[in-house]
Amino acid sequence: MTDAVPAVYEPLDERFAAVGGDSRLERLWTGGRWTEGPLYVPAGRYLLFSDIPNDRVLRWCETDGSVSVFGSPAGYANGRTLDRQGRVVTCQHGERRVVRTEHDGSTTVLADRLDGRRFNSPNDVVVSSDGAVWFTDPPYGIASDYEGHRAEPEVDGCHVYRVDPRTGQVAAVATDLERPNGLAFSPDESRLYVADTQRRHLRVFDVDGGRLAGGDVLADLEGGPDGVRVDDAGRVWVAAGTAVHVLHPDGTLLGRLRLPEEVSNLTFGGPKRNRLFLTATTSVYSILLTVTGPRLV
Ligand code: MG
Repeated sequence: MTDAVPAVYEPLDERFAAVGGDSRLERLWTGGRWTEGPLYVPAGRYLLFSDIPNDRVLRWCETDGSVSVFGSPAGYANGRTLDRQGRVVTCQHGERRVVRTEHDGSTTVLADRLDGRRFNSPNDVVVSSDGAVWFTDPPYGIASDYEGHRAEPEVDGCHVYRVDPRTGQVAAVATDLERPNGLAFSPDESRLYVADTQRRHLRVFDVDGGRLAGGDVLADLEGGPDGVRVDDAGRVWVAAGTAVHVLHPDGTLLGRLRLPEEVSNLTFGGPKRNRLFLTATTSVYSILLTVTGPRLV
């Protein structure tokens, strides 16, 4: 059964008037320990999400509202996205890797090592239109047994990596972050936004083919920023603390959408990509908006 809470919009700039929607936030499901990684799969009309400490992936069905276990154990899966062929690409804390689920259900490992050393615990992932896979690698899955398996780091820091779509080679493309976490491209893919949770920063990089340049701090956020998404108008949506922060591409905080729990990740979905799904601590929330998210496939 779905219950609801009032949707608390906090405008801080007149341009936030373009962002509106339901007056209620639907709570689609509760009962997790720490939920993350929402992904709407349009062909199946379902939402996948992770309940990391319980090592399971759940699936909310849009057509009947049911939630069931999609996978458990699940390699302590965290963030996920779709590639341009509609295949799910997933970060796994437990296996310390990024994998792709093929259309026949088999698993292909896209990245699990850099020069023979295991990653920390890949956290979140995006795929650019050329098929390159970009992911972040903070240590949350190896820092304790809560979100993975406690282990010593093998790589020399917490970086942003890119998997080349032709060669499969993995390269570190940003190495000056402390805890890189959520990431998202601007609509034209000229910029990559990356949350640095520890420093409470949202960084912005210029994308030059397979490389990143720049890396300015675009915004300081209350709470540690986690998930990031960009809507069709280029506004940047950042989950931090108990709110989603909506930023103009110039870094101005336009407003917030407040949640009843600490929010980790968000994604746009539904057949029109105008439904926002939010993973927030124990629960998954949803709200229909007047803005639209990017087309992934
Ligand atoms: Mg994250």
